[in-house]
Amino acid sequence: AKFTRVDQDTCIACGACGGVAPDIFDYDDEGFSFSILDDNQGITPVEGELEDDLMDALDGCPTESIKIQDKPFAHIEEEKA
Ligand code: SF4
Repeated sequence: AKFTRVDQDTCIACGACGGVAPDIFDYDDEGFSFSILDDNQGITPVEGELEDDLMDALDGCPTESIKIQDKPFAHIEEEKA
């Protein structure tokens, strides 16, 4: 399984990722993408067919804002600590 979250600091709200992976990504009020799986925390595994969608979204993101790793992302509070 993969884990994913969007780096909203670099996302340019282009709308590509939600088009290819609508079950993973949606947009906030300003159009910036986030993972709907776990409110962009990156702690819910992306499995099965969704993994293919995720890789398509990764390939299609022009700013490399879609982050993917094999382990859950740490909570932001922990990253800052
Ligand atoms: Fe943001 Fe990348 Fe999605 Fe475009 S494809 S909305 S830049 S995360």
